[in-house]
Amino acid sequence: MVKIKLSKRQDEILEIVKQNGPITGKEIADKLSLSRAALRPDLAILTMSGNIDARPRVGYFYNDKFKVKRQAEKVLHHSVNNYKAHPIVVGKSTSVYDAIVQLFLEDVGTLYAVDSDGHLAGVISRKDLLRASLGNQNLSELPVSVIMTRMPNIITIYPEETLLEAAKKMIQNHIDSLPVVREADEQKNTYLLVGRITKTTITKAYLEMMDEKSD
Ligand code: ADP
Repeated sequence: MVKIKLSKRQDEILEIVKQNGPITGKEIADKLSLSRAALRPDLAILTMSGNIDARPRVGYFYNDKFKVKRQAEKVLHHSVNNYKAHPIVVGKSTSVYDAIVQLFLEDVGTLYAVDSDGHLAGVISRKDLLRASLGNQNLSELPVSVIMTRMPNIITIYPEETLLEAAKKMIQNHIDSLPVVREADEQKNTYLLVGRITKTTITKAYLEMMDEKSD
């Protein structure tokens, strides 16, 4: 989709089409006291950019879908940093039993494990804990390091990346959340945990958008 800044006249035309559409080019021209020919370039830009649609013998009308898409784009282009939540962290040697308790206490779906340097070491999801609980193991003796998804298999995101990138990573990898990280040591491939982004984060961002007064 082409993203362009509209001129003052194009904004005026858009407003007229919004209020009066479907409306013919001649009617728009009359409202602006301009000739039909003078309007042609502006109408072409508005049509090509997707703001308005034209139907032969009907006229121009406002493209609502385009508006929704534009608003959605606005939300998804916000940076992860503005939306990230606090990560719930456990040590690598925490027992599966304690991790389950932590999950309930903090009311989250995913825990992150860190090593003794505080670097991200693992992801522990609900299913990881359920799987571990299915066997007859002693959950108080079993450390989360045995059952977690480990580095370098963890999908991460940087604070400067966008919610769109976060959403894509979660959908493509079939996961519910992403640890937001800063590089600790590029060579060693180690990361410091600075937050988390979940599918709920994306949903919340959309709800906020719906609450905002639409333009
Ligand atoms: P749930 O277990 O509640 O369905 P997920 O769909 O997020 O939660 O997790 C599914 C699997 O993917 C689990 O084994 C989990 O350890 C792993 N996982 C979750 N988040 C990530 C991530 N950011 N990077 C890599 N693996 C992950």
